[in-house]
Amino acid sequence: MDLKKISINAALPGKPRSRILIIYTGGTFGMTYDKDGVLIPFDFASILEHLPSLKNLLLEITVYSFETPIDSSNIDTEHWKLIGKIIHDHYHDNDGFVVLHGTDTMAYTASALSFMLEGLNKPVIFTGAQLPISEPRSDARENLITALDIASARKDGEALVPEVCIYFDYELLRGNRSKKVESLRFDAFDSGNYPPLAKAGVKIDYNFSAIGRRHGNGPLTLRTRFDSNISIIKLFPGISQQVVRGILHTDGLKAVVLETYGSGNAPTFPWLIEELKKAIERDIIIVNVSQCPGGRVLQGRYETSKKLQQIGVISGADMTTEAAVAKLMLLLGEYGTTRTKNMVSLSLAGELTA
Ligand code: ASP
Repeated sequence: MDLKKISINAALPGKPRSRILIIYTGGTFGMTYDKDGVLIPFDFASILEHLPSLKNLLLEITVYSFETPIDSSNIDTEHWKLIGKIIHDHYHDNDGFVVLHGTDTMAYTASALSFMLEGLNKPVIFTGAQLPISEPRSDARENLITALDIASARKDGEALVPEVCIYFDYELLRGNRSKKVESLRFDAFDSGNYPPLAKAGVKIDYNFSAIGRRHGNGPLTLRTRFDSNISIIKLFPGISQQVVRGILHTDGLKAVVLETYGSGNAPTFPWLIEELKKAIERDIIIVNVSQCPGGRVLQGRYETSKKLQQIGVISGADMTTEAAVAKLMLLLGEYGTTRTKNMVSLSLAGELTA
């Protein structure tokens, strides 16, 4: 994957207040019309034409742009590694990071980065847009300007938000608690199980009791080994044994995110419990997350979840599916099955409430 480096001294002629690195991956944000009226990705070097007020932020900005910007539906673990490596390699030279990313899979990428960047003490703010920056009513300008402001916000020399977040439509959310919930209106993201870390109005109001703590002064460790041998089973009334068995017998399968009903409930049909039990005996990890965007899994509260607990299904507590997928792939890649079983129910980056 090729990268293009662009330097934008948006602070001219003053002294920059902060140094920020932007990673531009693509998505709707950067679309513009070509001479035939077709939407194509814009050249990031022209950002000041679209957004002259960037200068007022007094920032020194370096941009690493994907040579070929992508729709985020095409994102995969290789792109996650590249984003992580750019942040890691330029960590000490910058005060904060902004990642411009399509909204469709932004919550997955933000979750993955939260687990990959161990010991993070600086802001990594994901943002994007529902309407291209070339459109008069676009949300791209506000989203980027405020994301940059948050990425550069410091108090007594230390970052106000030392974690991976999504900033969108006036709200700052923890990345690994977020979900894309809307494809047309501007309020595309929500984090049903965790309060916003900040709300932007005339001022940016930070919710300091919700923002993650700094990690001491240790080094930033980048973890990049992923194992994609996982799957998701979303339960629905009428799901067939054939389908469940087919997934659970996939060659090389190591873990499954089981999307259950309500507070972690599943049918008590003997065939389902038996298929899951046999999979667990074959050392396949099954993690129970709820289909509800708010609330949590409480295995044992109802008879319909007690069986899952008895056979060794692991409660995902209040984790999103996006966080569970990214976490399982990274833990399996870095530590293997035995350690993943012990680590998956721990809060590693604020992704769940134990
Ligand atoms: N399909 C686009 C993407 O995720 C949507 C967006 O950016 O909002 O790349």
